[in-house]
Amino acid sequence: MLNEVLPDLLEEIVYLLKQQGADPLEAKLRALRIESVCDCGDENCASFATASEVKVANYVELQSMEGQVIIDLNAADEICFIEVLGRPDVKYLLEEFYDSRN
Ligand SMILES: [Zn+2]
Repeated sequence: MLNEVLPDLLEEIVYLLKQQGADPLEAKLRALRIESVCDCGDENCASFATASEVKVANYVELQSMEGQVIIDLNAADEICFIEVLGRPDVKYLLEEFYDSRN
């Protein structure tokens, strides 16, 4: 679950969504699972998919203090992918999570 692997990022996203008036997404965020980690190979990238099928129809770009965080939504307004760039703290936790599973 996202709230177990990246609790700080989750709270940061929830806070930013409230700032931007997009807090209806909060309940969905808290229920997200990390399905897979982005394999683009970019060392700045700590993005991950939260649905088995990623088809982006819409997105919410957050005004994060550090790096770039974008929430991708599919046509049904479900969160399918979270783009995280320039956040070594998040990347470290994701790698640790995946190393422990493989
Ligand atoms: Zn990537």
